[in-house]
Amino acid sequence: MSADLASPIQREFNPWLAAEARFDEAAKRLGLDDGLSKILRTPATELTVHIPIQLDDGRLEVFTGYRVQHSVARGPGKGGIRYDPGVTLDEIRALAAWMTWKSAVVNIPFGGAKGGVVCDPAYLSDGELERITRRYTAEILDFIGPERDVPAPDMNTNQQTMAWIMDTYSMHRRYTETAVVTGKPISIGGSKGRTEATGRGCMIVTLEALRRLGIEPRNAKVVVQGFGNVGGMAARLMARAGMRIVAIIEYDGAIHNSRGLDIDAVSKHREETGSILDFPGAENMDRDEALLLECHVLLPAARENVITSQNASKVRARIICEGANGPTTALADDILAERDVFVIPDILANAGGVTVSYFEWVQDRQGFFWNERLVNGRLEEIMVDSFRDVVACAEKHEVNNRIGAYMLAMDRVASALKLRGIYA
Ligand code: NAD
Repeated sequence: MSADLASPIQREFNPWLAAEARFDEAAKRLGLDDGLSKILRTPATELTVHIPIQLDDGRLEVFTGYRVQHSVARGPGKGGIRYDPGVTLDEIRALAAWMTWKSAVVNIPFGGAKGGVVCDPAYLSDGELERITRRYTAEILDFIGPERDVPAPDMNTNQQTMAWIMDTYSMHRRYTETAVVTGKPISIGGSKGRTEATGRGCMIVTLEALRRLGIEPRNAKVVVQGFGNVGGMAARLMARAGMRIVAIIEYDGAIHNSRGLDIDAVSKHREETGSILDFPGAENMDRDEALLLECHVLLPAARENVITSQNASKVRARIICEGANGPTTALADDILAERDVFVIPDILANAGGVTVSYFEWVQDRQGFFWNERLVNGRLEEIMVDSFRDVVACAEKHEVNNRIGAYMLAMDRVASALKLRGIYA
């Protein structure tokens, strides 16, 4: 369906339109000229591949895959690969652009890219997934590489997927090239600290925001949505930094304890029972109500389109730290800004992951691996500097933090483009 024909809700939830709304606003404020604006909004390269695979029952099936490089002006493309039945070229384009801005916000020398294969991993065996991964890699082989475009895991892909991509690429090149992907297992060139990096980054920028607003971390009440890689790790690290995690929201409900939850005990309870619900140290709660609890920090770390025009006016958080990509819609942004909620936008808040991916790429290329203290220290330095850059940019231009982050990122990419010039 074309975006023009969609209902208001479909328009509000469309990732491409969401990214465009922020891009247009930031471009206007930056006074970006039409030509540069055109270049920055158009992906540099888009590849569609068809992947024939023999299924376990002997049938042949053809899957469709994409890799989009939005910009390589500041360095190789960088961005994950997702496996999902709902993958579309439009979605991959939007996510690739998002990666360009995210890499630029934290000022690491990468552009933005994204890839995906239209498939449903729930109905595929490990062998089928391995064959899809290897053939997809072979089809995009000339397009990726340490100097060109460096994939990473995303929805339904993981360390094992990255190991298969690295191996396939290396077999074709006739030497081992670990720097072609990040998010690998540590034993084959992964980085220490990568698994915790996104949650750790959320914790670091939240501490900065609390400091800015004069709230003591030990007085801070935090509500976390999504107890997965990002939310689970952020909750653990925030609790360790003295904050009180008063509620955790999952897809099947929420748990609440105003005195604070023991995060390790909640993890253990979920491992044993398959759910966070009925945790002995808390009461069960409706998940939509928990999102609106009064708190200092709300950390949406589950999925996109959670804070919308429907509920933004009821959110009672002082700070929103966007662990997930796109949890707040553009319409909700305006409502939150009116209510003076301090939003740490996704392209800053969850950039700890891509930052440690950058460290992984550097270590692979040097063949010299860092200890965890060095990884975490350098991550902290980058997250703190980026937080301050974003807030300073937002204050200077009198815009909200999200538009401030887009302006900072777009200005950095536009400067690189101008300095390089247009080759023709
Ligand atoms: P994950 O699958 O490990 O965790 C997501 C959690 O959210 C799961 O526990 C799931 O049960 C829960 N969930 C799903 N739908 C929910 C709902 N409607 N309400 C409440 N809980 C729900 O995924 P993740 O890696 O933690 O990623 C979460 C978000 O963070 C995604 O938007 C992802 O794009 C973004 N992100 C992740 C990383 C990373 O390094 N993993 C980096 C940047 C951004």
